[in-house]
Amino acid sequence: MKATANNKTLDDFGEAGIIQLIQGNVSQKLPPYVKKGIGDDCAVLAEAGWDKTLLVTTDTMIEGIHFTDQTLSPEALGWKALAVNISDIAAMGGTPRTAFLSIGIKPETEVSFLESFMAGFNTLAEKTGIALAGGDTVESPTSAIITITLLGDCLPEHVVYRSGARVGDDLWVTGPLGDAAAGLFLLQNKQAPPPSGYESLVRAHQEPMPPLDVGKALGESGLAHAMIDISDGIAKDLGHICEQSGTGALLQATSIPMSDKLQRLAAEVEKSPLDWALHGGEDYELLFTASSADEEKIVTLTSKISGTPVAKIGTIIHEDGIWLETEKGKERLGSGGYVHFSS
Ligand SMILES: [Mg+2]
Repeated sequence: MKATANNKTLDDFGEAGIIQLIQGNVSQKLPPYVKKGIGDDCAVLAEAGWDKTLLVTTDTMIEGIHFTDQTLSPEALGWKALAVNISDIAAMGGTPRTAFLSIGIKPETEVSFLESFMAGFNTLAEKTGIALAGGDTVESPTSAIITITLLGDCLPEHVVYRSGARVGDDLWVTGPLGDAAAGLFLLQNKQAPPPSGYESLVRAHQEPMPPLDVGKALGESGLAHAMIDISDGIAKDLGHICEQSGTGALLQATSIPMSDKLQRLAAEVEKSPLDWALHGGEDYELLFTASSADEEKIVTLTSKISGTPVAKIGTIIHEDGIWLETEKGKERLGSGGYVHFSS
């Protein structure tokens, strides 16, 4: 091992530190067919002679961290475990094709759990044209662990990376933000009077549907300069675009799209809807940048895709950091999103 950290534990490092440690311990010489390795939503692979590039992503969901039996039914878990991977393919502008499913599970788990899990998985796989082509099953002593690896493809000239943002670009986002975090709040606070009419918030947490068609259309049109999916909260995910592009960003608080339901619930339970929208995470919407000259083209292109509104929420700037403009002025946003390995 090259990198050592005597007496340190992984929670001193944080997720970004752990990724750095892993990168520091692998050969930095990538073979020529790896067009993009660690550091984007998918790895991008291309051999000479291939028409299309291969996109590869993998995501793990662990019981007690990403879900409990209170927050996700087995069926919703099957859907969501696949959806979070589809979201990464969408963020590159690609088309998902083939999935590999690895499950670690306690032996005393009821068979119906796995049947329901597969029903949820299959529903989304059929909707999106994904074939399950392999995987692994292992015994887990304590909690369920689901890892999905998803392969997709894209023409090389249509792949959208995190690193392409340019100063002056508009910042765009699909869908309303914060619904999934509000849904999780409802699921975790069932002792409160059960509020009716908030099913869409719970559904946003349990069964996200990544805007694949928008991601693909943006890639094909060449309009998006940089793109990422919103998994950890927009403040943190926008940070990744800025880091990779060597820019900062200025968000307009009044432009962040939020659903009426989110705002109504936030008022009822005295939470900040904007906090949920900026930091909640798990929206699995797309955040992208495009030339300000292409505003009309973006609106025209995305309006043809039903059910996916887009909103212009800010600008890519030269100055470092992620900034939020509110009626009170400009404040620097902490990353604030979900951070793995932090106690
Ligand atoms: Mg991602």
